[in-house]
Amino acid sequence: MTETYEVVVVGGGPAGLSAALVLGRARRRTLVVDAGEPRNEPSAHLQGYLSRDGMPPAEFLAVGREEIARYGVELVRDRAVDATRAEDFTVVLASGRTVRARQLVVATGLKDELPPVPGLAERFGRDVIHCPYCHGWEARDRATGVLASSPTSVHQALMVTQWSKDVRFFLHEVRETELADEDRRRLAAAGVTVVPGPVAEVLAEEDRLTGVRLADGMVHDREVLYVAPRAVPQNALLVRLGAELRETPFGSFPVLDERGLTTVPGLWAAGNAGGFAEQVVNAASRGYRAGAAINGELLFADLDAAVRV
Ligand SMILES: Cc1cc2nc3c(=O)[nH]c(=O)nc-3n(C[C@H](O)[C@H](O)[C@H](O)COP(=O)(O)OP(=O)(O)OC[C@H]3O[C@@H](n4cnc5c(N)ncnc54)[C@H](O)[C@@H]3O)c2cc1C
Repeated sequence: MTETYEVVVVGGGPAGLSAALVLGRARRRTLVVDAGEPRNEPSAHLQGYLSRDGMPPAEFLAVGREEIARYGVELVRDRAVDATRAEDFTVVLASGRTVRARQLVVATGLKDELPPVPGLAERFGRDVIHCPYCHGWEARDRATGVLASSPTSVHQALMVTQWSKDVRFFLHEVRETELADEDRRRLAAAGVTVVPGPVAEVLAEEDRLTGVRLADGMVHDREVLYVAPRAVPQNALLVRLGAELRETPFGSFPVLDERGLTTVPGLWAAGNAGGFAEQVVNAASRGYRAGAAINGELLFADLDAAVRV
């Protein structure tokens, strides 16, 4: 049997839960489908969210789940594997359950694909980090490395000098001659030491990062290593439903209006499913905005239909 909701939200991270909170409070019959793999899961603390700074990410989500439950929103631990659109949306879950909704919010986030350097992945979110706004304060004044792993890595190396004056930029697979003159000059002006040669391994002792070993055997003592993971937008449902995408240096994200509506009527995106740069507070804000806009859409669609009768 296919159950019908007014809104189905796919993804129960900050964006999806925030949309669901508004919709629940607006008395909309709402289902959240969440696979339970939030992006910041590797980190012990979530930073930079006013009034929640330092809260464990799992606690943040647990509070959010309690809040939506107060307003009758259902949440199911499952994965949306397919969706189609006729008059309504039909969403197929991995469990085999099928649900229908008048409006669909995709808040599926993105995945971080790390460079395949031995020892790196297991330390991600702790002392191998990607974002100075998330972790820079905690990593301040540490012996810092930056692994060149994307075209934005020079920018990252320059940025982190705001948090540490001891920064080594490991060129890894980038040849020294590939650095633009302007980048070289800026790195020098910022006091960043450029280290050529491939990185062979990230070293750790007693569960703490201790250094970076180059392929030639040279070890650089470091306490923190920044990387720029490749962003993999979780956009399969948006693609399946025909939403127009825009190419960015960080992957393909949906074209959205200011409220989060895609180019497909009734299909919304929020949080990292809608853009690379959304931090937790922005993701929650986008979810809120989409939730409020959806409530208005449903209300006026029903009024218009009543007026036509
Ligand atoms: C290591 C790390 C640390 C970070 N630290 C911070 C920080 O301190 N402060 C900060 O502001 N930001 C931080 N971020 C960024 C933060 O993780 C994102 O801003 C935030 O997670 C975006 O929220 P979201 O709701 O869009 O996505 P997510 O939090 O990733 O939630 C998406 C949810 O959707 C689910 N999902 C995906 N596909 C499906 C599907 N098909 N069906 C059902 N469910 C699905 C996922 O399992 C997940 O539960 C950090 C990121 C990383 C990688």
